[in-house]
Amino acid sequence: MDEKKTVLIVEDEKSIVDILRFNLEREGYRTLTAYDGEAGLRTALEKDPDLILLDVMLPKMIGFDVCQALREKGHNVPVIILTAREEEADKVLGLEIGADDYITKPFSMRELMARVKANIRRTAMQSGPAAPAAAIPAGGGLTIDTESYQVRKHGKAVDLTQREYELLTFLASHPGKVYSRIDLMEQVWNYGYVGDDVRTVDVTVRRLREKIEDDPASPALILTRRGVGYYFTAE
Ligand code: CA
Repeated sequence: MDEKKTVLIVEDEKSIVDILRFNLEREGYRTLTAYDGEAGLRTALEKDPDLILLDVMLPKMIGFDVCQALREKGHNVPVIILTAREEEADKVLGLEIGADDYITKPFSMRELMARVKANIRRTAMQSGPAAPAAAIPAGGGLTIDTESYQVRKHGKAVDLTQREYELLTFLASHPGKVYSRIDLMEQVWNYGYVGDDVRTVDVTVRRLREKIEDDPASPALILTRRGVGYYFTAE
């Protein structure tokens, strides 16, 4: 990595901002900070960071609304939501409105840094020069162009988040091969450990199906092998 990556911290608790900033900078990241949701959104749009750490409970505009506003404006920057402990509903909601990941407070700094690195690395990989193939064949009116990172459905551009795009290209590159949720966490999310976060995979698959399947309720492209995992149709 020859160029410093920038992480935007959107969090209203100064003590958390300080410790995040300290640790991120020690790991070689540049940091930006915002202490309320409106400032966070503005900074994200103006400075185009490489990753955003986004608290949920924020003054002026909550984290979910910030994330949603970014996605509606077509920004696919990786977003990690910082949720309060045990708020299961928050995690799922965060993923559904387009966050890439969440981490539960209180978090260990080691775990948080691993998540940041995993998400930043995906970005670096994607903009790297060695795209494997210009196009991945896919049925059902779906085309995936890995040079322009364009996914089309019946000729119409599909707007995917980075994580959705990577999950799709990973599965479509290995048609017919079934991957468990843990496999996908390791291969697509780059996590060396998993814990109980496999639900992230389910939510991302569901969102992806809503965007690329003719009938998301009975998918024809990304299929479920019950009790095992997911695979891309081999046809
Ligand atoms: Ca807060």
